[in-house]
Amino acid sequence: GLLTDGIARPTVFARISARAAQTGAANLGQGFPDTDPPHKAAAAAIAAIRAGHNQYPPGAGEPVLREAIALHQQRRYGLDWDPAGEVLVTTGATEALAATVLALVEPGDEVVTLEPFYDQYAALIALAGGVHRTVPLRIAPGADGDLATTVDAAELRSAFGPRTRMVIVNSPHNPTGAVLDREVLVAIVEEAVRHDALIVTDEVYEHLTYGPAHVPIATLPGARERTVSISSAGKTFSVTGWKIGWVTAPSPLVTAITGTKQWLTYTSGAPFQHAVAVGLRMPDEAIAGIADDLRERRDLLVAGLRSVGFTVGVPEAGYFVVADTAGLGEPDAEALCERLPTEAGVAAIPLTAFYRPGSAESAAAGSLLRLAFCKDRPTIELALERLAGWS
Ligand code: PMP
Ligand code: GLN
Repeated sequence: GLLTDGIARPTVFARISARAAQTGAANLGQGFPDTDPPHKAAAAAIAAIRAGHNQYPPGAGEPVLREAIALHQQRRYGLDWDPAGEVLVTTGATEALAATVLALVEPGDEVVTLEPFYDQYAALIALAGGVHRTVPLRIAPGADGDLATTVDAAELRSAFGPRTRMVIVNSPHNPTGAVLDREVLVAIVEEAVRHDALIVTDEVYEHLTYGPAHVPIATLPGARERTVSISSAGKTFSVTGWKIGWVTAPSPLVTAITGTKQWLTYTSGAPFQHAVAVGLRMPDEAIAGIADDLRERRDLLVAGLRSVGFTVGVPEAGYFVVADTAGLGEPDAEALCERLPTEAGVAAIPLTAFYRPGSAESAAAGSLLRLAFCKDRPTIELALERLAGWS
């Protein structure tokens, strides 16, 4: 049953963060920033409490936030959504994903994701009684020697079939930091249309890009009417503890997802909704400033890991660097991540946490680990110093 499938175990993020806290390790495991949110947004949260926004907000979300979300989608991406019926506020992207999968996947339905995948997807598919189909996102050294990711178009297409109900897309991608090529997104839309499947897109890293700007899959021809777009404030404003996320989709889909959300949390934290509404109305440059700042810490971590002897990928987006430990004489990243907190004083996550247990793809990723650079400079520098001393 579900318990024996491993769903009842604490997540890898909770386990590794607890180890880091016990051992005093520099925690490059769980992806949460230890830097402050924009002052304007934090001040707005305090002001919202003072102004009395302390009781249940409307189930669909505070109108001021739904309007800010619709305006953001319109202004940034040219996507028009009606704040009154096509926008739903949730308790983080986590609840948006849960309500979406539980509302729209029936037992026996197939759900396609890339592998590796954000761990919640597999748990939700299991909770809904769905069948998980995966497409390998292969990670291997490219011509320049750095790790690069590829998706094979034929493998992607062959994951779809008559029972496909949904494809969950995650670009920018956790754990690799990859941004999916336009051709991959186009192929996903074509297959979804061919099999009349829904597209669910997890875009929580939409504003943390270090190259070209994010392209939402809902903007591609044929996608909008079958796409549920999900994002959240956690990454964009460095407020993962606020737990405010959202869904934009055509009204019948939002109605179905709202019907499930009401039984999960009923409503989501009122004062933080007001604060996120202020955040989303900040000028583009202020939002881009968070990514500029992260890019510098990405470069610091990449350079440091290289000099310690890891083969690394240079992520185009997000919070994480993938590193290969094979060159360091410990090809088993799971074993290494168990020992690192006590041996080196550093915490990291084995990439196998993002694979189906025992899959061939998981075995191929056995020497890979994920390290977060959304930490302050002293933490990254301390981790690198410790790794240099340990290796
Ligand atoms: N999706 C992805 C890809 C994530 O990395 C995360 C967590 N950081 C989430 C969803 C959950 O987002 P939230 O914290 O808004 O619930
Ligand atoms: N998304 C964060 C990560 O990938 C952690 C979220 C969680 O703890 N579930 O590290």
